[in-house]
Amino acid sequence: MLNFTIGPVMCSEEVLEVGREQVPYFRTPEFSSVMLENEQLICEFAHSPKESRALFMTNSSSGAMEAVVMNCFDATDHVLVIDGGSFGHRFVELCKIHGIAHTVLHLEYGQKLTKEQLYEFDGTGITGLLVNIGETSTGVLYDAEMIGEFCRKNNAFYACDCVSSFLADEFDMNKYGADVMITGSQKALACPPGVSIVLLSSRAIERVNNIKARTMYFNLADMLENMKRGQTPFTPAVGILLQINRRLKMIQKLGGVSVEVARVQAQAKDFRDKMEGLPLEIFSEAPANGVTAIHPQNVDAYSVFETLKDEYGIWVCPNGGDLKNRVFRVGHIGCLNHDDNTTLIEALRDLQKRGML
Ligand SMILES: *Cc1c(COP(=O)(O)O)cnc(C)c1O
Repeated sequence: MLNFTIGPVMCSEEVLEVGREQVPYFRTPEFSSVMLENEQLICEFAHSPKESRALFMTNSSSGAMEAVVMNCFDATDHVLVIDGGSFGHRFVELCKIHGIAHTVLHLEYGQKLTKEQLYEFDGTGITGLLVNIGETSTGVLYDAEMIGEFCRKNNAFYACDCVSSFLADEFDMNKYGADVMITGSQKALACPPGVSIVLLSSRAIERVNNIKARTMYFNLADMLENMKRGQTPFTPAVGILLQINRRLKMIQKLGGVSVEVARVQAQAKDFRDKMEGLPLEIFSEAPANGVTAIHPQNVDAYSVFETLKDEYGIWVCPNGGDLKNRVFRVGHIGCLNHDDNTTLIEALRDLQKRGML
């Protein structure tokens, strides 16, 4: 199977090699040093400010989103949530479940966030902002720097879900003034699913330590305490953390985060160039590097996904909900190259010949 979904994505041979090893016991100095090295590389690649800490949670990234809502906000907060698709909507639901007062900035699917739209909430007393920098469901990348300026002006705590955009689009936590960066193992990190990462600025650490979240497994203060010695409160997904270590070190060896971002960007550009002439429309106003959301002009989007899977051995990513029949997505993250793009384009051309595109 050739996998163009947005996660799980295809892993490199190096990462797969680690996956075939026996999983070691983890309460050891050796494993602690792997954890601390993972932390240091995540901090480096996200350009986090000094005193930041990275936490590694054993759950998919929605668990990290929930932990951030529970541990970084309380009854004194009023949070602005950017909701332009299913991941934005998830933050809205989490605020509802955990009783965090919030206002929703609703965007049409595929729309980018403009400065005018954002500054309608300037001076309205918000204390925090939740956004998915890459709204993976529609392929839109928001302007993290512009949102950061807004948060600074409003003294709002700035939490960024970069689950699909970290390592695919440049993210400079220090420059943007972001307090939280969330990511996960199965997107551009290109490892199996199961681990999510929460990177906290010193301001975020202070919040986490002051807010008494009513949870055991999602308690970030407890995780921070354990991470001082490179450990976690409970058994982590040890094998995946070792795969993450291999992957992060490979990125570093090949030139660091900017080289990796450029690679994904070139992968996306190659696909978008090759797409021209096919009856396919890019759905997003501001496409992220990691994913192209596509509206097929003549046919049902879900049927394209099904036929590619069943008859060509290729996975693209279907959409759910309202967009199920209008949009499918092609990922540019994971172990894919330009020849793989050609294979997909040839399959799409073949569909067109058969009257199915
Ligand atoms: C994939 C993704 C998540 C998390 O999804 P899980 O299924 O919980 O891993 C969250 N936010 C964004 C933007 C994503 O792309």
